[in-house]
This record gives sequence, structure tokens and C-alpha cells, in this order.
Amino acid sequence: MTTKHTSIKDHEIESLIQQEIQREETTINLIASENYASTEVLKVLGSVLTNKYAEGYPGKRYYAGCTIVDHVEKLAIERCKKLFGADHINVQPHSGSQANMAVYMTALKPDDTVLGMGLAEGGHMTHGHPKNFSSIYYNAIQYGVDRETEQLNYNAIAELAHKHKPKLIIAGASAYSRSIDFAQFAKIAKEVGAFFLADIAHIAGLVAAGFHPSPIEYADFVTSTTHKTLRGPRGGLTMCKNSYAADLDKAVMPGIQGGPFMHVIAAKAVCFLEALQPSFKEYQQQIIANAKAMAHAFQDLGYRIVSGGTDNHLFIVDVRSKNITGRQAEHALEKAGITVSRSCIPFDSQKPWVTSGIRIGTPAITTRGMKEKEVIEIAQLIDDVLAYAEDEKYLEKIRRKILDFCKRYLLYQ
Ligand SMILES: *Cc1c(COP(=O)(O)O)cnc(C)c1O
Repeated sequence: MTTKHTSIKDHEIESLIQQEIQREETTINLIASENYASTEVLKVLGSVLTNKYAEGYPGKRYYAGCTIVDHVEKLAIERCKKLFGADHINVQPHSGSQANMAVYMTALKPDDTVLGMGLAEGGHMTHGHPKNFSSIYYNAIQYGVDRETEQLNYNAIAELAHKHKPKLIIAGASAYSRSIDFAQFAKIAKEVGAFFLADIAHIAGLVAAGFHPSPIEYADFVTSTTHKTLRGPRGGLTMCKNSYAADLDKAVMPGIQGGPFMHVIAAKAVCFLEALQPSFKEYQQQIIANAKAMAHAFQDLGYRIVSGGTDNHLFIVDVRSKNITGRQAEHALEKAGITVSRSCIPFDSQKPWVTSGIRIGTPAITTRGMKEKEVIEIAQLIDDVLAYAEDEKYLEKIRRKILDFCKRYLLYQ
């Protein structure tokens, strides 16, 4: 593991890592999909487990010398089962996208119809974006949110399902601040004879801690990342009912992947153990409390929050009232030392590259120890930046304030 105190001999890479440590330490990260992995997770990621080829599964490998890594993978699966209570878990997907691709491979044939949430409405590319495999190799139909409520409209989704008869319905989002009713999705899927995939990439930590209803009992398949609210290494995982277990495992390997990343699987095991601790519940509760407090602070400052608020770790701020686009807001905030993602608002008149909103998430700053008082302060700073987005001098002044602020919340001592 490289931290401030260890150094690697490749000076070019060492210097870039030190710069990145510095960037993390001196900026406020509000990117909803990011987090800071624990020192334990980082250590394990840098371990010799990266050396081992282990195609196959524990006890059935295509390589010799896998006895030890078999224990690693079994431990990861066992801990993940305790966390989510799934029948079967595959911890090998390299990322959330691959976790989803494995489900497509298990449940569908090319050209089958899938129904997922559109990217501009808050969904993920792998849920049927035109340029993604999910739309290139499958017939993707997209649902969005209701124009009035800016929330999921289960009647409208049911209508689309009955009209298009998908083989797979996907629930889950990257930019949706409300709880998702997985039971409703399961009911719709059942009505039309579709498989149901719940993609909890963003909310996995909340689900594990019991602050978002779990889809496990309702969904045929559940996929996730391990690096967002779950706060583990970059990676994915796929869970399913026992009846799909053998097909799912074949879809992951040899279907879409070769050798599993054993160092990452070990780091996933560490992350699951961390998530099983009582302190993880407190952490997730604080993430949500911070998101709510911050969304309220923005409302008090005169901003419109998409759907009127948040139930989870993120929310979308409509920045049109400041006569600024999401892209301009993102750039001005980056200059001031605050990282956010520009984000479409429902029925956005701006292109997805430009947008009219910013997505704000609290997992990373909560890891750093910030609470309600601090997030309200940050909302105020963001408001200042958006009001003076063109004023470089003013942005520099805010930048200095942020630097001072960050000194109170060091990540790497
Ligand atoms: C982040 C995300 C993914 C995929 O994650 P990668 O690891 O970047 O491939 C999948 N689904 C949703 C809803 C996500 O937010």
C-alpha cells in the first residue's frame, strides 16, 4: 500500500500517487458513487494474492495451488451471505457492470427484451443505454420517473412491462434519491413472466445496514458494486436464488471473465467483515442523516431538490435558479475544491453532457467524519461558488477556505 509514508521506486507513478493523496486530502468529495476504502482494504489490495490464477470456483479450479485462495473466496462468500442473506453469491465480477452482464448472460438470449431505467432519468448504462452492450445485444426498453412527482411510477412501469413483455426487468439507479419498492417491481415482473434483477450498486451499504428495504426476498438476481456505500475495493458481486446458481457461475466464468482478482476478493472479504460491525450501521445512518440535512440546507438556500428530498445517500440539486448549467457548476466547484457530478434533472432540456443539475452524495464525507453541522457549512460554500461561478478571484478565496476545512478531516495521517 502506498501512503504518505511509504514510497515506491517508480518515481513517476509514486509522484502521481502522492498527488492523488494530496487531492483526496484537500478536496471535499461529494461524488455519490465514491468513497474512501479503509486502510485494511488498501493493504489487502496490495497483497501477493494478485499473483494467483484461480479460474473456476473454490474446490473446482482450473489451476493448481489454489487451496489458500479457495479459503479466501469461501470466506468472502460466507461473510457476504451474513450481510445480505442471499442463497447464492458470486464474488468474482470485476465490477458492477460485469455483475450485471453476468445476469444478462444467465437470464437472456441475445435480442431478448429488457426493461430498465434510462440513464438520463437516473439509471445506469448497463440498464439499456443505446451505446452499452445491454442495448447493442438486447432489445432495451427504458422507463423513467413521473413528470409530476419525479419519482418512480409503478403503474407506468407496469404498463410498459405489459406492452413490451420483457424477459428481464431491472430496478436500481445511480441518481435516484428515493427508496425503491422492490416488492412492486417483483409483482410487475411476475405478472409478465419476467426475471427480476435488483441492482443495488449505490445503496448496498444502506441495504446491508437495514436502512433501505432489501430486495433479496423479491428478486431473482441482485447485483452490486463493493466500492460505493459499501466502502470496499473497486469490484462487483452477483447474488441469486439457488435455482440459478450453476448458470450464474458459468456466466461469470467462462461466460465473461477469466481469472478472478483474488486480491480484490480478499479485500471484498475485509469490506464485508467491516460492514458486519455495529459501527457500520452508525456510519450508514450518518450518511443518510447528512444527506437529509444537506438537502434541507439547499432548500433553505432557495434551491429545488429533485423529487423534493432524499431517502438515501444522495440527492439532485436543480441549479437552473442560479442561471448556470450542471457542467458549469461542476467546473466552478472543482476549482474551489469541491467535487460533484453534473446530473440530468428529470425531463432536462439540456443535453446529458451539459445538464441542469448536480448530484450530491454524502458517503465519502461521512467516512471522513463530517456530520450535519459540516454538511450545512458545505451547502453554504457551494451556494457561494454557484453565485460567483465566473469570478476566479472569489473561487480562489473559497478554495482557501476549503483547504482549511479539509485540514480538520485528514484521511491519511
Ligand atoms: C455504479 C453502478 C454500476 C456499475 O459499476 P462499475 O463498477 O462502474 O461497472 C451498476 N449499476 C449501477 C446502478 C451503478 O450505479
